[in-house]
Amino acid sequence: MKNIVILTGAGISAESGLKTFRDSDGLWEGYNIQDVATPEAWEHNPVMVQQFYNERRKTVLEAKPNAAHYALAALEEKYKVTIITQNIDDLHERAGSSTVVHLHGIITRSQSSINPELTYPIDGWEIKMGELCELGSQLRAHVVWFGEPVPMIEHAAMICTSADIFILIGSSLAVYPAAGLIGYVDRDVPKYLIDPNIPSVNVRGEVIKIREKATIGVPALVNELLKD
Ligand code: NAD
Repeated sequence: MKNIVILTGAGISAESGLKTFRDSDGLWEGYNIQDVATPEAWEHNPVMVQQFYNERRKTVLEAKPNAAHYALAALEEKYKVTIITQNIDDLHERAGSSTVVHLHGIITRSQSSINPELTYPIDGWEIKMGELCELGSQLRAHVVWFGEPVPMIEHAAMICTSADIFILIGSSLAVYPAAGLIGYVDRDVPKYLIDPNIPSVNVRGEVIKIREKATIGVPALVNELLKD
């Protein structure tokens, strides 16, 4: 069975109603990213940061997977599929994909604010101030902030080295270290890029650019791959 590795970014969830960063001039839902998605923001204003992620979680829980998420799940009929996602939503899982690596965490879980390895399911959409981890520290969203280490990156790089086919969907490749993952894919592996604004990539070998929105480009490519 061929091994397909897929790297997704915010663009795949855009048509589910979840806004991307770049399409809103570096703001995220009207907030400057530095003010809500950094350890410094949490240090200065934990109440605001908690509220920001509670609102994002509510929106994620209300959103539904779209045709692109479902098409990727259908690829498992014929391929070994690993999705590496930069997204903090759970739409790949809800569409039925079985192997999803969350590089930047997942907003539907909480995390200890002193030990990122301690994560927990959340009852409902809200983490309340005063809710503590087993070590007695405040719980926060299980997401990787700018300036924090990305614990899954080495695992993700290993997965990329094993790809027979690589697909990038809806990512501007502006956020490192995730943006460097394509560099771990072998030269001879076909690389498909699906995005209305194809990001520039500096890789050797065959690069196939599909300038489409995810809900159009992904099901079309999946149909082709299932025919092969
Ligand atoms: P990005 O915002 O930098 O880039 C989004 C990309 O998606 C752009 O290249 C854009 O052209 C493309 N795009 C827009 N609409 C699309 C569509 N309908 N179909 C396909 N592509 C489309 O996003 P990024 O590269 O993922 O990096 C930014 C960071 O944003 C990530 O670390 C991620 O954690 C975070 N983020 C996540 C979510 C989410 O979980 N849904 C939402 C916003 C931001």
